[in-house]
Amino acid sequence: MGDAVQQFFTVKARIAAAEHEAGRQAGAVTLVAVSKTFDAADIRPVIEAGQRVFGENRVQEAQGKWPALKEAFADIELHLIGPLQSNKAKEAVTLFDVIETVDREKIAAELAKEIARQGHAPRLYVQVNTGSEPQKAGIEPRQAVAFVARCRDVHGLAIEGLMCIPPADENPGPHFALLEKLGREAGVAKLSMGMSGDYETAVAFGATSVRVGSAIFGIR
Ligand SMILES: *Cc1c(COP(=O)(O)O)cnc(C)c1O
Repeated sequence: MGDAVQQFFTVKARIAAAEHEAGRQAGAVTLVAVSKTFDAADIRPVIEAGQRVFGENRVQEAQGKWPALKEAFADIELHLIGPLQSNKAKEAVTLFDVIETVDREKIAAELAKEIARQGHAPRLYVQVNTGSEPQKAGIEPRQAVAFVARCRDVHGLAIEGLMCIPPADENPGPHFALLEKLGREAGVAKLSMGMSGDYETAVAFGATSVRVGSAIFGIR
């Protein structure tokens, strides 16, 4: 068994233990295996071990490896977890099953246009910049609830959840708690939060999916 497969099983077991510890239902949390920078030969064994949900942060990189893997494994679910430029909306709607990084009006408008044109809609999350970091993507927390409503009312987009990436140097708990509160206020059910270093904490705070890369595939 390769390293990635072994680490995949370890992460699955730790998620299950964290669900149990938090009094959550078994299977309540979806693992999004983040495969950015790894190629198809690294990813394939993890698919063969049973994983079906993957995350990539660049549209162009994903276009290079996922069409063939999706062809080979029909039930793959691919998440875009990196910033989306409006000139890539078309490609993103074509390739991704879930786009987690809707964070501004212009992107919402572009996605609405592409979804209408292609007649097929990825599921959508709004990314929230819970730490209000100037260099980080995501909508400001105080604007998040109104933005979810505008996506629905102005652009006709159904937003399914919220996503955040807490500041690297802070305790993530308060950021996860903030995302959970905003999700309740916005009336969305899904919360994408937690990465290799803090996914068990995120499970305790109500994550419905965790995005784990290096703990499965190794250092990038
Ligand atoms: C890379 C990335 C991850 C995974 O990070 P790890 O620390 O390797 O688990 C999760 N979310 C986003 C948005 C990422 O870009």
